[in-house]
Amino acid sequence: MGWALPYRRVAVLGLGRTGRAVTAALSSLGVPVFVSERGTLSRRQLRLLRNWGVEWEEGGHTEGLLRSDLIVVSPGVPLSIPVLLQAVAKGIPVWSELELSWRLAAPTKVVAVTGTNGKSTTTALVGKLLAAVGARPVIAGNIGRPAVRTLAKVTGRPWVLETSSYQLEGCSTFRPDVAVWLNFAPDHLEHHGSEAAYFAAKARVLRRQGTADLAVLPAELIASVGAHARVVDLGSVQLPTAWASVEPGHQRTNLQAAWVAALEVCPRLAQQPPGMAQVGRALQQPHRLETVGEHAGVQFVDDSKATNPHATTAALAGMGRPVVLILGGRRKARGYEVLRASLKEKVRACVLVGEARPFFSELLSSWGVPHTAADGPVDALHAAFALARRGDVVLLSPACASFDMFRSYAHRGRAFSQAFRRHFGGQ
Ligand code: ADP
Repeated sequence: MGWALPYRRVAVLGLGRTGRAVTAALSSLGVPVFVSERGTLSRRQLRLLRNWGVEWEEGGHTEGLLRSDLIVVSPGVPLSIPVLLQAVAKGIPVWSELELSWRLAAPTKVVAVTGTNGKSTTTALVGKLLAAVGARPVIAGNIGRPAVRTLAKVTGRPWVLETSSYQLEGCSTFRPDVAVWLNFAPDHLEHHGSEAAYFAAKARVLRRQGTADLAVLPAELIASVGAHARVVDLGSVQLPTAWASVEPGHQRTNLQAAWVAALEVCPRLAQQPPGMAQVGRALQQPHRLETVGEHAGVQFVDDSKATNPHATTAALAGMGRPVVLILGGRRKARGYEVLRASLKEKVRACVLVGEARPFFSELLSSWGVPHTAADGPVDALHAAFALARRGDVVLLSPACASFDMFRSYAHRGRAFSQAFRRHFGGQ
């Protein structure tokens, strides 16, 4: 793989995980790179930059950026910041790491999975299904490994990419052979500015597709997106008969999406679908409706990855027993009205945690849902188990981001699971 793009000097805006991966990839291709970081660079970062031999600036973005031929932005950076608007006005292309990777890679097929919820699970499922028939997929993107880090190994192999709205908004030519758009609900409004902008960013996954490509969409999106590709209605996808025991609900939807996407890449999968046990294992991802254990006849389930109300609604929809719900964290700007019906139907009481406690307290009082407040994982679990009755589920599905108290959703999930094991486990 070489550098055949018509840009001599490339600026990388933001030196987080993705920015580092982009800088490493470009440097290894011999492309002069200029890194521009808003914050302060750590010693480790400075050492890396020196090793790569790239130029940099920190503590803000200056005119130096505008002397580049191309700017690659990190996923968290809004495209509306002044220096990027200036760049666009000067005719400098501004790409996401996904667009850059797409221009450089030579995979056999590209599957892109997007949606408000279910991306990681579905991406992993597509990968497992393809791997099961020896198709040697490479899994990358938002799921943990930036696409740019897989450029060398993806040549001649299928590329399965979890694509976020942040990545898609910086794409201009990205054209997946199979685009899966699972669902849409308001989220990330603080970054995109409006629901319409968030929708438009997601819709970019379909924009360049043609009739040779496939778009997998739920019925409610088919009407509103105007896809150019062949369209499959997600809800109508037939699963192999051996998988009949997968319950209806969002996990089944994710599996339907993964199945139709994997079949498109590798039709011989139809003759040899993996068994139910393998599929069941693939469906279970950490911190996504993960059963941690049981205490006094009450199950504890970790769904810490539910960082928005849409995910929590899906979790509650799948619950066959009364729930004591642990809710809260850093709340989203809006969208909580969707929780009302399922809270009233499924939830015995809520335990509120994190900085959104006053918000939820007011909301739940107005809905007539019983609730109490707690301080941290141990306190919250004590409160939840005190409220639960034998046969109930204590569900951590917070409908909020974790960053008020934790580094990530995984950190939050681990903190609750450890607290459960330490204080309630094994009984
Ligand atoms: P993402 O990568 O889009 O955040 P995940 O697969 O990590 O999606 O799941 C995120 C959260 O959403 C979890 O709480 C999970 O239980 C829930 N979820 C998974 N799939 C769906 C779906 N199809 N619809 C609604 N919620 C879902």
